[in-house]
Amino acid sequence: MSLLDGQPSVLFVHAHPDDETISTGALIAELVARGTRVSVLTATRGERGDVVRGPLSGLEGTDALARERERELQRAADTLGIAGRFWLGEQPARSAGLGPRRYRDSGMKWIRPGLAGPADDVDDDDALAVAPPGEVTRDVAALIAHLRPSLVVSYDNGGGYGHPDHVRVHEAALAASRALDTPFAEILHAPAPDAEWFALGAHLGTVSAALRCHASQLTVDGSDIVHSGGQRERITTAIGLRML
Ligand SMILES: [Zn+2]
Repeated sequence: MSLLDGQPSVLFVHAHPDDETISTGALIAELVARGTRVSVLTATRGERGDVVRGPLSGLEGTDALARERERELQRAADTLGIAGRFWLGEQPARSAGLGPRRYRDSGMKWIRPGLAGPADDVDDDDALAVAPPGEVTRDVAALIAHLRPSLVVSYDNGGGYGHPDHVRVHEAALAASRALDTPFAEILHAPAPDAEWFALGAHLGTVSAALRCHASQLTVDGSDIVHSGGQRERITTAIGLRML
């Protein structure tokens, strides 16, 4: 018996465009192959992302980057077979009676390799990390109430690698799932005794194709992701899920 068996509808909650593919692309592809309806909620447009040097460099730090990342996310979602895509703060991922709002990328800085922390200059009132936590949770809950997924998936309580937006998304997705009595699983990047581990290398081609859609943020070199700053990581096709 697998956690993936008999899931009619799974909602992934992510912080920035590209997270859905980098951290959960193979799992999404596997669920889609099993006939599950997969939806993705993305909290911000990754406005503070560094841009890969090349034809898109000029977008860095401009409003046009957000629009490019919207297009990149849609192409990646289509590649992975995602059925529904939503922005946090916009209906139906917005509390009833409130007008739409944007949550913006809070940025981050590296504290040490593999661990991120808050940026030094979070002076944007719309940054996700400074938004009222209750408002963020209620907006996630609005989408859960709308979709009624059988499972919600998001980061672990460290946000995977400490990015403040990922941590906030974990907290909101977990609290909203609890409030609506919806099962919640956190993403693990290493096997654990109380988690299910999925080796999904069969989806490497699909994940690679979806990664290539995020051309402002990364390039794909063989089985590696090369980030805008030059850091390399292997494309992830193995992932753990732990029910909380
Ligand atoms: Zn992210």
